[in-house]
Amino acid sequence: MKVTGIHHISTIVWHAQENIDFYAGVLGLKLIKKTLNFDDHQVYHLYFGNDDAQTGSAITFFPWPNTYKEGMVGDGQVGVTSYMIPVGSMDFWKDRFNNFGIKYNEITRFNDKFLQFVDPHGIKNELVETDFGPMNNFEFNGVTKDVAIKGFFGAVLYSSNVLGTKSFLLDDLKLKLVEENDLYIRFESDQELGRYVDLYKKSMGQSKMGAGSVHHIAFGVNETEIESWKTYFEEKGYHITGVKDRKFFKSIYFREPGGTIIELATNTPGFEQDSPYLEEPKLFMPPHFENLRSEVETKLMPLFIRPIKELRDYPYQNKEEYLIWKAHQELLEKINYYARESKVRKLSKEELSDREILRKKYLKNIRGTLENNLNSLSVEDENGNYVNLKKKEGIKND
Ligand code: ZN
Repeated sequence: MKVTGIHHISTIVWHAQENIDFYAGVLGLKLIKKTLNFDDHQVYHLYFGNDDAQTGSAITFFPWPNTYKEGMVGDGQVGVTSYMIPVGSMDFWKDRFNNFGIKYNEITRFNDKFLQFVDPHGIKNELVETDFGPMNNFEFNGVTKDVAIKGFFGAVLYSSNVLGTKSFLLDDLKLKLVEENDLYIRFESDQELGRYVDLYKKSMGQSKMGAGSVHHIAFGVNETEIESWKTYFEEKGYHITGVKDRKFFKSIYFREPGGTIIELATNTPGFEQDSPYLEEPKLFMPPHFENLRSEVETKLMPLFIRPIKELRDYPYQNKEEYLIWKAHQELLEKINYYARESKVRKLSKEELSDREILRKKYLKNIRGTLENNLNSLSVEDENGNYVNLKKKEGIKND
C-alpha cells in the first residue's frame, strides 16, 4: 500500500468573504464546494480547486468568526502550501500581486524558484512554474487558463521530530526520497498534482492551532484500502479515528510522529460535478444537518463570488450584521450619487428632499452603531460581576 499524493489541505481562517475574495478573486481558483463544518453547523467549510475539482488541487478552509483564537505556525504543521502555475506565467502573478498590494518574496528550494506570499489571514502560500500537471481551464477575474493555478505542487512540512516524520513519509506512506540538502528533504509521490512534500530539517518552534494555520494535510488512498490503512497504523500504536464518511471521500485521521495531523482520504467518489459556479453558490448541507437548514440559512452570512479590484475587510460576522451593513452601504452610495450630481447640475426639489431624508437616516444609523457599541461594553464592578457600561454610566437614549 502507498499513498497516491496530496489529496487536500485544510486550513483555519477568519472571515469567509475575505477568504473567497482572496482565493477566487485574486488567485482565480474555483469554489468547488460550499458546505458546513461536519462537526459544527455554524461554520462554513469552503473548498477551492481547479476546473475539474481534482484531488491534489483542493484547498479547504474553515472560516471562523473574528473572535476565534489566532494560531501560530510552527512544528507539527504544514508551514507553506505550494501551487503550480504554467511555465512563463510568473511575471503575470508578480504584476497581479503588485496591483492588489500583496507583498511577495522570491526564494529558491532545490533549484525551484518560488514566489511566496501570505493570504489575508496569515496562511503562507507559494507559486512555482512547472510543466507538470494538467492545465486548469477555469477562468475568473482576469486569471486566464494560460496562467491559472493548476493545483498543488506540494507542501512544506515543519516537524517536532524530523527523523520520525522522515520515516513516516518514507516507510509508512511510501513516498520516495528524491533530494536532500542542509535544510530540506524532498519526498515525491506518483501523482502530478500534489506531488511533493518538502520536510524542513530545523525547528520552527512551538505551533498553536488557530486561525492563520493549517489544520491538516490529507493524502489520497485507494478506496478499497482505507480499512487496511487503519489497521496498519493501529498495529503500529497510532491513535486513529474511525473511518469517517465525508460524502466526497472517506477518511481516517491521526498525528504523525512530528505532530502534524494527517488524514488519509479515499480518491473516490470525489466531488460530484453538480455545483455550477454561481455568484452565490449553493450550500451543500451535510446529511446529518439537513433538519437544521432553515436555522443555518437565517444565521449564516451570505457569501458572494464576484470579480474584485481590491481586497477589503468586512465588518459583519453573521446574516443580521450583513443586512445592516448592506443597507448602510446602499445609503452611502445614494448620498454619494447626490453629492456628485450636485457638482454638475442643480438638484430638483424632489431630489433635495430625498437627499435630506437619506442624510437623516445616515445620521440615525451612525448613532445606532455608537449606541450598540456602548450596549456591548461591560466593565467589572467591585463584586466581580460584569455590568453593562450603558446602565452603569446612565447614558441616555433618545
Ligand atoms: Zn480533510
